[in-house]
Amino acid sequence: MVKHLVAAQNEFFATQKTKEVTYRKYYLKKLQQEILDQEDAICNALYADFKKPKFESLATETQLVLAELKHAIKNIRSWSEPNSVGASLSNFPSKDWIQPEPYGKVLIISPWNYPFMLAIAPLVGALAAGNTAILKPSEFSPHTSKMIAQIIQKVFPPEYVTVVEGGVEVSAQLLKEKWEYIFFTGSTRVGKIVYQSAAEHLTPVTLELSGKNPCIVDETASIKLAAKRIAWGKFINAGQTCIAPDYILVHKNIKDSLVDHLKQNITQFYGKEMETSESFARIATTKHYQELKVMLEGQTLLFGGSFTDEEQYISPTLVDEPQLDSPIMNGEIFGPILPIISYEEEDELHEYISKYPNPLAFYVFSSNKKFQKRLMGQYSFGGGAINDVVVHISNKDLPFGGVGQSGIGGYHGKHTFDLFSHHKSIIKRGTWLDVPLRYAPYNISLKWVKKIKHLF
Ligand code: NAD
Repeated sequence: MVKHLVAAQNEFFATQKTKEVTYRKYYLKKLQQEILDQEDAICNALYADFKKPKFESLATETQLVLAELKHAIKNIRSWSEPNSVGASLSNFPSKDWIQPEPYGKVLIISPWNYPFMLAIAPLVGALAAGNTAILKPSEFSPHTSKMIAQIIQKVFPPEYVTVVEGGVEVSAQLLKEKWEYIFFTGSTRVGKIVYQSAAEHLTPVTLELSGKNPCIVDETASIKLAAKRIAWGKFINAGQTCIAPDYILVHKNIKDSLVDHLKQNITQFYGKEMETSESFARIATTKHYQELKVMLEGQTLLFGGSFTDEEQYISPTLVDEPQLDSPIMNGEIFGPILPIISYEEEDELHEYISKYPNPLAFYVFSSNKKFQKRLMGQYSFGGGAINDVVVHISNKDLPFGGVGQSGIGGYHGKHTFDLFSHHKSIIKRGTWLDVPLRYAPYNISLKWVKKIKHLF
């Protein structure tokens, strides 16, 4: 079946149909309308998968995608136009330009944590740029995966866009095919597998991967506000957010106060009976739920720590000063568990931060501008925020992505269009003049060659 779909997309792309901006726009609008019509059903699917609260489904899934669609539909014509650049004197007379063009067929593989948004947001840019696409949503969010398949089937002919549902085997089968671009969101472990498969055909990739994101709170921070923002960004989607703060490094003089404020905010957000809160999601996969439980073993808890196996519920939990070699500090947590580690001198921060290179996100709460600047400049990370968490994802003008271990490439807004376009450089030479300097026999003195520099 995969081979058949791939062949159909190859054939369709070759018709040049997707190079017409009106064609792309027509389908993006159709997709927009279908998402608007199905918004409630999408939220229901997300709720069925992991009790995702409707507010979070709207704010972090459908509305984000609709904003991407609106922006792309509005700008697609200007983005697709050739972009003139200055001509070089040596080529006089000429016109020089960059022509964005689609790669061909794109494979998009997505995870379960924001299962709708992380499948459809890249698709919007892929189609805006004129590609065809096959989507492989996560098998661990089956209701949303089915919903995505239904929407795509209704909106697009399969030779243009189609969904292939399934797990690792299906994904592996898809990766055996030759793609012109692969966009993968998921773990760093699987990202390496995807990269290897892509190398086989020299296929360009975007890899949106994971990291262990530090959140540093120094003595000068506004503690009350820091606690509120951290609690929001950590526990939204039950901590299953790739850019959630993973652990806090807090100055020892303000640790108790920060912890008190975190507790207050968590209780305010989710109530005293958190399990009954309609604002708090569940852990989406059993494997991950079990791993999170193991992470809590032997830890000193400052708050929370309760769980219910039937529901795969873990309450918002604060862990006190975990050992660096304990499972909780071994890799990304990806759940509602927040370790709090104190430091005394700034130098101590390096030991922690450098242990987890290239985090996907990096956060500093401080009112000391020099401290903010030093930390933001010193470390390599995907993106970040000063005095807030997570919010850098919401500005479409900021490319969203990782670096090193946390990924390759950045997207959102026009960045997605650019990422899914090959930027073709073209020179159109005039024919009424042909400066003879570059042609053999080379009679021009070498002294002049060095002086003129740009002979062609
Ligand atoms: P995952 O890597 O296990 O799976 C992602 C996708 O890859 C799924 O569709 C899955 O079916 C497929 N897959 C799994 N194993 C495969 C294999 N061996 N070969 C081919 N395909 C395979 O990730 P996940 O558990 O679904 O998602 C959670 C991870 O994703 C976290 O680590 C999180 O940080 C990361 N993530 C990153 C971003 C980002 O934007 N950087 C966003 C969300 C999640």
